[in-house]
Amino acid sequence: MNKLIHTLIFSFSLFLLVTSAFSQEIVVYSARKEHLIKPVFDLYTKETRIKIKYITDKAPVLLQRIKAEGENTPADLLITVDAGNLWYAANQGILQPVSSDVLITNIPSYLRDPENKWFGLSLRARTIVYSTERVKPDELATYEDLAKTEWNGRLVLRTSKKVYNQSLVAMLIKEHGEKETAGIVKGWVSNLAAPPFSNDTKVMEAIIAGQGDVGIVNTYYFGRLAKKDPTIPIALFWPNQSSGGVHVNVSGAGVVAASKNTKNKAAAIAFLEWLSTEKAQQIFADINMEYPVNPDVPVNPTVASWGTFKQNKINLKNAGENQAAAIMLMDRVGYK
Ligand code: FE
Repeated sequence: MNKLIHTLIFSFSLFLLVTSAFSQEIVVYSARKEHLIKPVFDLYTKETRIKIKYITDKAPVLLQRIKAEGENTPADLLITVDAGNLWYAANQGILQPVSSDVLITNIPSYLRDPENKWFGLSLRARTIVYSTERVKPDELATYEDLAKTEWNGRLVLRTSKKVYNQSLVAMLIKEHGEKETAGIVKGWVSNLAAPPFSNDTKVMEAIIAGQGDVGIVNTYYFGRLAKKDPTIPIALFWPNQSSGGVHVNVSGAGVVAASKNTKNKAAAIAFLEWLSTEKAQQIFADINMEYPVNPDVPVNPTVASWGTFKQNKINLKNAGENQAAAIMLMDRVGYK
């Protein structure tokens, strides 16, 4: 009899455990586009049976929404691009610190928040792109050198309104200070072949069309264009190899501060940890032709074919901390 009761109790607990596992779900707000995240979410659901509900929108819209929803937000995890945006979300009190040995082990320290409120998940380099018809790679060296007069009327850039350029300049401020950085950015502006473009693809198209000879873009935009037409007469160059290294940035995530329900919080952390492991890292990076942040995960062969390079390993929180200074600096020197 006793044994029967025990068996019944055991079966019932097992039933509860299984049903709660079945009903478990995580809510993600993502500024990374749906086609870039869905395959990873689907794999997680397949492996764990945990459902992932998500909405996608622009980063500022999602931040506003989480703030407006306050304590009632259903969001457990925020995914967004650029350390500038991740830092801003943490700074606005939207994200909470996560203590996880898995994340600390899998993600290099310069690609995550020292206070553990956000973690990089995929890495992109913001590097120099040049015309293979009009520029020899040995004429190039550093971001700083693009301010020299030899590039007068040959440089094309994306608008300073984009967070990617704000982060690049913010990191230059960290490295050189405001005064020297202002001189560099002013030099870029005076070398412009055309007014700044609205996106990285237009920068590369301008170089292909002969409107300019060099530019600065994120690696995956080059990857997309080269995939469509492998014969395009442009190539990537890795600058600052004898100095600070190539400016890299991340897409990443953090656990939403209002996700107070301990069960949801634990589930969000477990999902974030899984995202830092091999299979997830590979899909998350490959799908957008990015680099995994986890150094143990192999780089996609196409991405690897662009060559290896030394990264700038200054902590990316500086992209956020110096963001306001970068915006004001770019405005001051006339970078539109
Ligand atoms: Fe982008």
